[in-house]
Amino acid sequence: MVVKGETPRRVTILGSTGSVGTQTVDIVARAPEAFAVEALTANRNVRLLAEQARALKPRMAVVADPAGYAELKDALAGTGVEAAAGPQAVAEAAQRPSEVVMAAIVGAAGLEPTLAAVRRGACVAFANKEVLVCAGALMMEEVKAHGAALLPVDSEHSAIYQCFDFAHPQRVRRLVLTASGGPFRTKDRAFMAAATPEQAVAHPTWDMGAKISVDSATMMNKGLELIEAHFLFGIPEERIDVLVHPQSVVHSLVEYVDGSVLAQLGTPDMRTPIAYALAWPDRIETPAERLDLVKAATLSFEAPDPERFPALRLARVALQSGGGAPTILSAANEVAVQAFLERRIGFLDIEKVVEKTLAALPHQPLHDLGEVRAVDAEARRYADALVMRLAA
Ligand code: NDP
Repeated sequence: MVVKGETPRRVTILGSTGSVGTQTVDIVARAPEAFAVEALTANRNVRLLAEQARALKPRMAVVADPAGYAELKDALAGTGVEAAAGPQAVAEAAQRPSEVVMAAIVGAAGLEPTLAAVRRGACVAFANKEVLVCAGALMMEEVKAHGAALLPVDSEHSAIYQCFDFAHPQRVRRLVLTASGGPFRTKDRAFMAAATPEQAVAHPTWDMGAKISVDSATMMNKGLELIEAHFLFGIPEERIDVLVHPQSVVHSLVEYVDGSVLAQLGTPDMRTPIAYALAWPDRIETPAERLDLVKAATLSFEAPDPERFPALRLARVALQSGGGAPTILSAANEVAVQAFLERRIGFLDIEKVVEKTLAALPHQPLHDLGEVRAVDAEARRYADALVMRLAA
């Protein structure tokens, strides 16, 4: 694993213009003595990417959409920062010799660049959960084979990572993922049927990108996290529980065989888990508000409601079924969430598209990444056709 303890530590940020990406830029910019930037990547937001590149002086800045190349090149003229474009160039950015790669692209588009970082044994600060959902077993094999490390950035997995006894995993009885419950925690199905994208992305405790915000509203986010936790920590599905905790202060818990339960707490600020993953095994200062339990006063917990939020059950079914099932789940969900954000389908149609795609396609074992890509593409085609029918 490439954590050599060099100072400053070189960091590549994949998806630097997103919610996790900009918060990573914030942490890195505040600590120039600790971090230097190797490469930054975005999809289309050339203006912000160029602004970040001028401030942080990486060696390379990449826009995934080739249409943005000329604008990026112009914006970086005279800065000494190399401009590049296209999905292949994003993967090349991940291959450059940084010690830490922040994987903060959204969706399966992050698969190739994350894999490129893993294959050179990098320490990967891992936010892009869809990558582990669509190719979990194969990705963990690659991590092992290349001596890479995955440092979770999701606040729940960061919490578990900090509480988990990796030397004695047999002592862990169960993992408990906490969930805020999202913006529709107290709403009924009739409300959800008419919900707009604006209502779905208005998360009560976290300020996040559009896709994960909708995933939080359906609670598919917790389903994806359950699958992510299974692959990261090697704990079977039936020993991973979900607990709704609206204050988002207890970020997750690990229960041991003797009855002890360890939890990690903090204010809901992604800069804390981002800083943990970037600096690991060290810890650094962050501007996150300090936790004041007197001010927080009440911490409440409740069981998730499977009737109003069936996405969690779908994720469990996919994980139990194994093979390509989680790949299908994640791909169909990406298609459906995008269609909802574009107002082509309703909020409750998201679960319909995922459930029908999962039921229609075979869940065969996946032997290599070529098979992952094929199943992902097939699920997207099927889900797209369902969306077209629902939108008609
Ligand atoms: P955003 O939508 O805010 O940002 C996504 C980033 O990925 C942007 O930089 C975007 O570029 C880039 N991107 C999008 N599509 C592509 C593509 N096809 N190729 C290359 N780059 C692409 O997402 P978030 O930051 O919210 O989430 C990122 C990941 O982190 C997700 O997997 C999410 O589940 C996970 N996560 C997020 C949390 C949060 O607080 N936001 C918390 C925990 C996990 P551009 O800006 O140019 O479109």
